[in-house]
Amino acid sequence: MTVGIVGAGQLGRMMALAGLPLGERFLFLDREEDSPGAQVAPSLLGAIDDAALLETLARRCEVVTFDVENLPREAAERVAAHTRLLPPVDALATAQDRLLEKTLFNALGIETVAWRAVDSLEELRDAAAALGLPAVLKTRRLGYDGRGQRFIRQQDELVGAWEALGGVPMILEAFAPFDEEVSLIGVRNPRGERRHYPLTRNVHWQGILDYSLAPVTRPGLQQQAERCLDRLLEHFAYAGVLTVEFFVVDGQLLANEMAPRVHNSGHWTLEGAVTSQFENHLRGILDLPLGDTTARGHSAMVNFLGHLPERAEVLAIEGCHFHDYGKSPRPRRKIGHATVVCAERSALPGRLERLRALTGRER
Ligand code: AMP
Repeated sequence: MTVGIVGAGQLGRMMALAGLPLGERFLFLDREEDSPGAQVAPSLLGAIDDAALLETLARRCEVVTFDVENLPREAAERVAAHTRLLPPVDALATAQDRLLEKTLFNALGIETVAWRAVDSLEELRDAAAALGLPAVLKTRRLGYDGRGQRFIRQQDELVGAWEALGGVPMILEAFAPFDEEVSLIGVRNPRGERRHYPLTRNVHWQGILDYSLAPVTRPGLQQQAERCLDRLLEHFAYAGVLTVEFFVVDGQLLANEMAPRVHNSGHWTLEGAVTSQFENHLRGILDLPLGDTTARGHSAMVNFLGHLPERAEVLAIEGCHFHDYGKSPRPRRKIGHATVVCAERSALPGRLERLRALTGRER
């Protein structure tokens, strides 16, 4: 069997690495010759929306998945016309548009911050009056890693924020005074089996994931999160891994966004869970029995952004695993990560601090 992957970034690369032991072969589509994925499996070279290449990929693969969230709906449908494309196109299209996403969350009874759709400066003023300030203005589409959004603290910042984001369709969200941010990763296969990983706590730096801690052991929260995720999994008749990010406000979860794919906050599962998110994603889309999602201990995952620390220094930390994505460094770019797994929770903070010190980032 060959699994096609649109986009050959680190997520695709880690999927391929997880799938080789299952006996799968992989074929990527990516415009970069020396992409992280192309370093481990063959790749068709070209744009991810190139019609001819998408068709070639679809014809050569039994199932096609993606490691990019910005795959246009038409491109996904072109693949789906010839072979199975999973996760489903509807889940992809919903996650690409914050208006569709928040509307669906609320329709399924999944709580979010209060929000308003905003298509003009006048609507922005009305929304700010209705929701109050501070608030967060976000473009409906193409926002990630802190891009495409502005925090608005005062009335006189409205025009500047609207213009800075280009006057495109947006949503305004009430500011969530969160205690922490968590994410839940779940997986479903077409025959309807479901599994969930333990909740992961995520800490951001300049809008990008800095580090994750797992498992978060708050039984009430885990159940709340699983209920939300299950509604989405069933709504889409989903296959593969789905991630939902939440704010924790006064012990309640407010859903922020979903990602129809393996997720940076699940990288700890490679060494810290019985089955990794990458293997479970493949098991999900191939309709295989799903793997145990139990944590093996206590894990911390730290991203390497724009700079890879000395490998030997990372590996000198007990229980640490180093991942280099084979990408050229650019400021803020995700080029690798490390995960430290400890049997005892008490050992984790010290090792996490040593690891974070190697990234050179300030808190
Ligand atoms: P997002 O692109 O929606 O994931 O937002 C990136 C980060 O901005 C989140 O992880 C939060 O740290 C912060 N953020 C986004 N929306 C809100 C909000 N409504 N209230 C408070 N913080 C937010």
